[in-house]
Amino acid sequence: MSEHSSTSILSSNLAAIRTRITAACERAGRDPSQVRLLPVSKTVDEARLRDAYALGLRELGENKVQEAQAKSEAMADLPELRWVLIGHLQTNKAKYAARFVSEFQALDSLRAAAALDTQLQKQGRALDVLVQVNTSGEASKFGLPPEEVVAFVRQLPAFSALRVRGLMTLALFSDDESKVRPCFVRLRELRERLRQDAPDGIVMDELSMGMSGDFELAIAEGATTVRVGTAIFGHRPTPDSAYWPGFAGAQKPI
Ligand SMILES: *Cc1c(COP(=O)(O)O)cnc(C)c1O
Repeated sequence: MSEHSSTSILSSNLAAIRTRITAACERAGRDPSQVRLLPVSKTVDEARLRDAYALGLRELGENKVQEAQAKSEAMADLPELRWVLIGHLQTNKAKYAARFVSEFQALDSLRAAAALDTQLQKQGRALDVLVQVNTSGEASKFGLPPEEVVAFVRQLPAFSALRVRGLMTLALFSDDESKVRPCFVRLRELRERLRQDAPDGIVMDELSMGMSGDFELAIAEGATTVRVGTAIFGHRPTPDSAYWPGFAGAQKPI
């Protein structure tokens, strides 16, 4: 495929997603400027990410620290490009993540919070973080069980380099809306509860939920960030089980 046509496919995919986001916001009586599109770039190579940058994208969501770090180093020449880590963090990778990640959406343990905080303090950096919640009850997914989130969030002010901004979830993988939607509802209701008794310094504005197959439903339930990979960059060559350990399900059709 020529460079030109791959850029134009990317450009038309992005335009189509933005149109769908706007339409979903209109149906929900929401302002489209309140929904952030986070492009998810795992497995996508540097050349295509440079095309995406040329089209105006300034943040990229990556699932794994090592892949994200390699890309961030290769593209260090691009000003204002933010890297958002959306996958589970092993504590031994906190040191690397603390150097270049601008936002971490998958915080789900005090060990990870402590490891990140220590590394960030050393580097004089701060990090926006979202707490990942397992709203689907699937054993294969990372994230805290909903009933543990309130107590968890109460402990976070101890980590002063972490700026807590809200919650993130992956819904159940299903074509059945009646199974997917309750996951988003659960995250929204949890945020309302947390807003009532959030500790000082903890802001609960963000709801990162919704992917290529379900972002319109997530917007209807209040998503402030939707994380979209396949619908922007096309199908991935690597099965998602490589990114979500234990994940055996087929990808949802777009
Ligand atoms: C890969 C990934 C996405 C994007 O998934 P698509 O179905 O390709 O849009 C969103 N969130 C997380 C945590 C991911 O790992």
